[in-house]
Amino acid sequence: MIIDLRSDTVTRPTPAMLEAMFSASVGDDVFGEDPTVIALEEKSAALFGKEAGLFCPSGTMTNQIASKVHTQPGEEVILHNLSHVYYYEAAGLMTNSGLSVCLLDGERGMISIQDVIDHINPDDLHRPRTALVEVENTMNKGGGAVYDNRVLAGIGEVCRKNGLKYHLDGARIFNALAVTGQTPKECGAMFDSISICLSKGLGAPVGSLLLGEREFIRKARRVRKVFGGGMRQAGYLAAAGIYALDNHVERLNDDHRRAKVLGELLSGLNWVEKVLPVDTNIVIFRVAFPLSAAEVVSRIGESGLKAIAFDRYSIRFVTHLDFTEEMLDAAMEILKKAF
Ligand SMILES: *Cc1c(COP(=O)(O)O)cnc(C)c1O
Repeated sequence: MIIDLRSDTVTRPTPAMLEAMFSASVGDDVFGEDPTVIALEEKSAALFGKEAGLFCPSGTMTNQIASKVHTQPGEEVILHNLSHVYYYEAAGLMTNSGLSVCLLDGERGMISIQDVIDHINPDDLHRPRTALVEVENTMNKGGGAVYDNRVLAGIGEVCRKNGLKYHLDGARIFNALAVTGQTPKECGAMFDSISICLSKGLGAPVGSLLLGEREFIRKARRVRKVFGGGMRQAGYLAAAGIYALDNHVERLNDDHRRAKVLGELLSGLNWVEKVLPVDTNIVIFRVAFPLSAAEVVSRIGESGLKAIAFDRYSIRFVTHLDFTEEMLDAAMEILKKAF
């Protein structure tokens, strides 16, 4: 049995999701004629209380489009140094939008209200104009950490007072909402724009959505075309997204429970030095001296358990739709016997 915990992106469409994809009505979405894409955009926007949505091939694209529409070249974005937009998007902020970055620290990848206030540049011709604040929830490199909603709302307040735009990288926002109990509408009200991924915990094969006000999405649609992200009969993919929103949100709690079980087991193993708190579906742990992450990944890989070495000493597991209770039991046996 292969147990793939490298990411929640490794899931395959379920038979019912494939059925929904097969039976989708489609058209040319660059002409605005794909009814299923339109339905997905409207459904997701309404869910988060936003006016409009834009279906894109990836979360990198939705983040990059949002950053471009919210700013002018030479302006500055405030974000955490471990955030996906900075760390994993290959300097896209600089190459796509000519932006400067102000990188913040903060425990488990999360930024604070005070840090944002302290890093807004004064109106000084020597300094780039601060234009945008970006947060990630859940926070991947923080081990799937979930923001306190009061912090998110507080940062939003600071943005409004200072004329800054506020973007949420919500690739795993449904994982966060499952923990806090906040509704998508309450979440949507805090931000100018939101990116959500259908291809992570929700189990769709492809796709992310950018949500915001009508005028913002109108501009975003143009930037998507420039980035080469206009898709034609994308309704087949959008149908998977609609199915995922209808059927795969509630079950995220199962992923969270299984991740907690893995975290607890790892905490008790003598070859594990430390496990980050497990809030959602991500488990990050540090291996004990003299082991390296690569060594451990290779050892458990021989038994069929796949993971990602997150850095020299840390490993990440991500639970997901295709990780069953049976696989959880098997994974635990492999981990217990590994060293
Ligand atoms: C996966 C992910 C994205 C988007 O990734 P794509 O692979 O481009 O879809 C963005 N932000 C976070 C936090 C992610 O985990």
